[in-house]
Amino acid sequence: MNKTNNVYDLAVAGVRQLVPYKAGKPITELERELGLSHIIKLASNENPLGPGKKALAACSAALPELALYPDGSGYALKQALAGKYALDVDQITLGNGSNEILELVARAFLTPELEAVFSQHAFAVYPIVTQAVGATGVVVPAVNYGHDLDAMLAAVNEKTRIVFIANPNNPTGTLLSQASVARFLAALPETVVCVLDEAYFEFVSVNEPINSIDWLKSFPNLIITRTFSKAYGLAGLRVGYGLSSPQLADILNRVRQPFNNNALALVAAEAALGDFEHLQQTMAINSHGMVQLTQGFKALGLEWIPSAGNFVSVDLKQPGQAVFEALLQKGVIVRPIGVYEMPNHLRISIGTAQENQQFLQALTEILANV
Ligand SMILES: *Cc1c(COP(=O)(O)O)cnc(C)c1O
Repeated sequence: MNKTNNVYDLAVAGVRQLVPYKAGKPITELERELGLSHIIKLASNENPLGPGKKALAACSAALPELALYPDGSGYALKQALAGKYALDVDQITLGNGSNEILELVARAFLTPELEAVFSQHAFAVYPIVTQAVGATGVVVPAVNYGHDLDAMLAAVNEKTRIVFIANPNNPTGTLLSQASVARFLAALPETVVCVLDEAYFEFVSVNEPINSIDWLKSFPNLIITRTFSKAYGLAGLRVGYGLSSPQLADILNRVRQPFNNNALALVAAEAALGDFEHLQQTMAINSHGMVQLTQGFKALGLEWIPSAGNFVSVDLKQPGQAVFEALLQKGVIVRPIGVYEMPNHLRISIGTAQENQQFLQALTEILANV
């Protein structure tokens, strides 16, 4: 066997060129680095209320069963989701976070000869899953930080196999109208799989009707992805799902690991679906927090991108990285988004009123010193 000096040379080309996803800084890491306590994290669009009581109780009740493999089909959770959305169980794919669904779609549909289309400033996982399978990502310039659906349609050619749309998008928070997405789907060739990423669906649907489930009837090439990580406060358990035609779900099921959802995740997600009180409190805290943060930005003379999610990206008119680091020194973790080609913005996840206040106070002090 030949010896190699560089194990990187052994990796497939797409993986060699990958830049790993940079997650929000964990609180424990900053505690270790700075010896600070009372750190707040407004960096990963997590639920500031924490998980709901029903989800926690379901986890506790399931603990004695942990020696057993989980239900690999996720039957009970799929039943609950099917009931909620009036879909068939065979239209649902469960994922280890909705990120896994994005990855399953890329693995099932892309090859190094094929392309995936997504927007500039779109969620960072789309280029990662595309490149990991050696396919080419085609980035379509954004308009006012939002997806330009006409330009995305124009970027579709015979090599295109997937289009990723985030609605609303992270980290911009920009929202496409339901009518514009419906028009896009009608114009998209049937040979292209459309991934409609609705990770923030719950935050939008409290304010306006979302029709995407209806579109599944007309578009067998559509998959909608949603998650328990944001509104339901279960990011640590990793549960997301795809809603699609039975055919598309069958394809994803072939590449899915048999036990991709752990036992606690399955029961907690199912319980969370029935916890309306927690969801309502989450929506209330989010809408109040959004007003609190944007009023704070306004008072500081800063502009922000209007957001339909549980986060907001603010334009600091100076490199965000420096302000991010100054905020860390004050025990506040937010998200710099230079990797999204937005070097002057920081993305702030909406926290509790007290967390938002602590962040605004720290930001005010930092901006006064430059
Ligand atoms: C947070 C997020 C996801 C997925 O999160 P999971 O925890 O993997 O479910 C997907 N898409 C967007 C746009 C997100 O912001």
